[in-house]
Amino acid sequence: MNIILLGAPGAGKGTQAKRLEDSHSLVQLSTGDMLRAAVASGSDLGRQAKAVMDAGKLVADELIIRMISDRIDEPDCKGGFILDGFPRTSPQAEALDKMLTGKGLRLDAVIEMKVDEDALVERITGRYSCVKCGAGYHDKFQIPAKAGVCDRCGGTEFNRRADDNEETVRTRLEAYRGQTAPILPYYRDKGILKTVDGMAAIDEVTRQIEAGLAA
Ligand code: AMP
Repeated sequence: MNIILLGAPGAGKGTQAKRLEDSHSLVQLSTGDMLRAAVASGSDLGRQAKAVMDAGKLVADELIIRMISDRIDEPDCKGGFILDGFPRTSPQAEALDKMLTGKGLRLDAVIEMKVDEDALVERITGRYSCVKCGAGYHDKFQIPAKAGVCDRCGGTEFNRRADDNEETVRTRLEAYRGQTAPILPYYRDKGILKTVDGMAAIDEVTRQIEAGLAA
């Protein structure tokens, strides 16, 4: 099964992707995580992407498309994947279609996680994640059962993203509204778009996604 999680920054795509990885043995392909890894490694791609990411703007389509195409070719993606944060523009959505056709693959579902924008700034500025396994937490809404210890892997190191500050979040939301939301009709027309309530509690969002995938 190959699916897309689509939603504004802070909609909960990463949280739900981690759950789907566990429940359906899929691989989460987060273009944001890949870019952050590239920035941390100091690669050419990382150097090109860093300033754009820090500003909350979108990295050039061609860089992203090449990165994701290479990643899908890796053996661990054979059992299916969850695209998290890609596609984010119409050219990316069209390139993805061509790419999947060329690889003999197809998209099974696109899950739109609908959220109230006013809640996003609080959600995003309070979040952090486990360095070891990437599990996401929040200062108010998702606290580890044991303080300072990851529920998923037992890791004890956590970090916060450089672009999770209020000013950058506003620019990221504008990018979502202007460039990403317009691709929703593209998937609606194909009949594969399922919309879930991203404002619901985490378990309820998971339930709605599972129902959408089973339908
Ligand atoms: P995310 O972790 O998905 O919120 O992405 C963090 C940042 O990485 C974004 O604000 C963009 O600068 C960049 N980025 C991630 N995915 C994409 C994409 N599909 N297209 C363009 N830029 C992206």
